Formats: sequence, structure tokens, C-alpha cells
Amino acid sequence: MRCGKTNCRCKAEPPVLHGPYLHWTRTLAGKTVTRTLTLTQEQASRYQPWFDNARRLRELITELEGRSLRVFSTPRADRQRAEISPGRCAERQI
Ligand SMILES: [Zn+2]
Repeated sequence: MRCGKTNCRCKAEPPVLHGPYLHWTRTLAGKTVTRTLTLTQEQASRYQPWFDNARRLRELITELEGRSLRVFSTPRADRQRAEISPGRCAERQI
């Protein structure tokens, strides 16, 4: 990554780029907030399991929301016939 400074090593020939950077995007009080994390290579590999866990958690939440939406967009009679209930969905998720 190149920065905005004029005489920086990232503008040299050959360029020595900055990074690696990790971009942490989340929603805070309804707004999307992106924060750039400056990590050493060692920190990046040490924290990797945390990032993996966070990604997995987001995937599971998205899946749970999708299942919930499907349950509530199914007419009640069909839902009962198929024995689908939010409780069962939650059980399966956890
Ligand atoms: Zn630079």
C-alpha cells in the first residue's frame, strides 16, 4: 500500500510498500465504520484464529437470520405441517 507522503519509501524506485494492513469493518450505531489495523506479520498470524472465529460467527448469524426470514415468510399452516418453528431452528443453530 502507498501512503500520501511525498518523500516516503513507498514512492522510491523500487517502492517499499506499507503493510500488510487489515481492514476491520463493522456497524457502530447504524453507521459503517472501517478501521485499518497496522499489525506486524507476527501479530497478524497470532491473531488469525480470532479473525477466523469472528468471520465464522458472522456467517452463522447471517445463516440464522436467513432461516428466521424463511420461517416467517412461510404461511403458518405450512410451517406447522413442516414442523418448522423458530425454536427448532434456534436449537439446530446452537
Ligand atoms: Zn509511504
